[in-house]
Amino acid sequence: MSGKLSGLQKRLTKVEKQLADRADRARRAWLAKCNCKDWTLAGPAEQFEEQMKLRCPCHGFRRLGKITRLLYTEPGSPPTRLDELIATYEAGLAEAEREQAHDAQES
Ligand SMILES: [Zn+2]
Repeated sequence: MSGKLSGLQKRLTKVEKQLADRADRARRAWLAKCNCKDWTLAGPAEQFEEQMKLRCPCHGFRRLGKITRLLYTEPGSPPTRLDELIATYEAGLAEAEREQAHDAQES
């Protein structure tokens, strides 16, 4: 009887390992599709807007990472279209992170 149990235990351990490997492969394949960025150069507003419109197949909201603003303006001048777009992006990012934190609490 104990021989059967130990055989069953070995088979169960093997199946558990196979399932874990399969889940790990699926997770890596899923993350390979991520198109989020670590760093984005924000130059012309139109180009930045194109970057903003893209979605990440993994995360939904596409992270643009650290945004380096390339447009020079005089100090104290009114916000440019690029500033408005960056503010819109940052509000979207904050909302995406709130949703992600909420989802993490539920699971
Ligand atoms: Zn992503």
